[in-house]
Amino acid sequence: MAQENTEKLLLQLKDLVVEIPTRRGTLTPVNGVSMDIKPGEILGVVGESGAGKSITGTAVTGLLEKPARIAGGSVILDGEEISKLDQGALRKIRGKEVGAIFQDPLTSLNPLMTVGEQLAETALAHLKISRNEARARALQALIDVGIPAAENRIDGYPHEFSGGMRQRVVIALALIGEPKLVIADEPTTALDVSVQAQILALLRKLCNERHTGVMLITHDMGVIAETTDRVAVMYAGRVVEIGRTRDVLTQPRHPYTIGLMSATPTTAVSTGAPQRLNQIPGAMPGLMSIPDGCPFHPRCDHSMDRCATSVPPLIADAVGSVACYLVENAKHV
Ligand code: SF4
Repeated sequence: MAQENTEKLLLQLKDLVVEIPTRRGTLTPVNGVSMDIKPGEILGVVGESGAGKSITGTAVTGLLEKPARIAGGSVILDGEEISKLDQGALRKIRGKEVGAIFQDPLTSLNPLMTVGEQLAETALAHLKISRNEARARALQALIDVGIPAAENRIDGYPHEFSGGMRQRVVIALALIGEPKLVIADEPTTALDVSVQAQILALLRKLCNERHTGVMLITHDMGVIAETTDRVAVMYAGRVVEIGRTRDVLTQPRHPYTIGLMSATPTTAVSTGAPQRLNQIPGAMPGLMSIPDGCPFHPRCDHSMDRCATSVPPLIADAVGSVACYLVENAKHV
C-alpha cells in the first residue's frame, strides 16, 4: 500500500525479499513484504511457524545469517535506507537505533557478567556518557522495567533472576541505547500467563512514554489482541492481511486470518456454551514446497481456479489491505 506521508513513518519495508541460496535451489522465506511502523506504534506480525515473521524482523536488525541475504526491496529506518549498508555501519545502528528482544532471555544475556555491567556496557557503546553515568543509567533502566530493590539486584548475575525478571532485564538492555525501534520476537512465549501480561503491559507503557516503535512478532492472537495497534498477518513469506488490530480481529477478511481467529480460544465469541475451536486443515508449506498461485490455496475452503495459478496482490481499501481474490471479487459485485 503506498504511503503518502512518509516523513511520519519510523520504519518502512518496501517489497522486501530475503533469499537463501542452497544447492537444491534458492529459498525465499520473505517474498515481497511491505509494512510500516510509526513512532510509538506497536505493529504485530502474526502467523504460524514458517510464515517468515522472524526472518523479516532479523532482516530489519541486520542480523541475517549467511547465506541468507536481502535480495530485493528496501528497509528504510527514519528516512534512511539501511538494507544496503555494510556490516560496520549496521553495527552502529543496531542497539542505538534498533533494539531487539528475543524469546529466551538467557540467549540475550551474558551469564558471566552482572546485569549492571551488561546494561552499562551497552549504554557506553551507544551513548556519549561517562562510566559513572552509564552505571546510573543501568540502575534507572532496571527501575524503569520494574525490578524490585534494583540497587541491590544490579550486581546480580542473570541466573540469580527469575524468568520474568530476566525478560525485564532484556527489555532494559534493548531500550538503554534509546533506540527508535524495537524488534520483539516472541518476547513472552517462554513465560507463564500472568508474567506474560505484565511484560506486555510494560512494553506498551515504555513504548508510549518514549515514542518507540515496536515490531511484535508472535504466533499468538491473544498477544496481538492485548498489545498491538495494527497487525500484519503473514503466510508463506507474504503479508496476506494488514490493518488496525481492532478491525482485523473483529472482521478478519482473509481466509487464513479467519482460520487463525477461529483457532484462538481467547478471541472466540462467548455464548456461555463451551467454545469449539477449529483447526486450519493442513500445514504451512515448507520453503522447498511453496505452491504456485496463492500459497494458501491447498488449505483454503474457498479456493477458485485462478488461486492455483496466480498470486493475489495485497489490495488496500478504507479498512486495511488483503491479498485474496475472494475479497477482490466481493468489491466488484
Ligand atoms: Fe483462498 Fe483464493 Fe483467497 Fe487464496 S486467493 S485465500 S486460495 S480464496
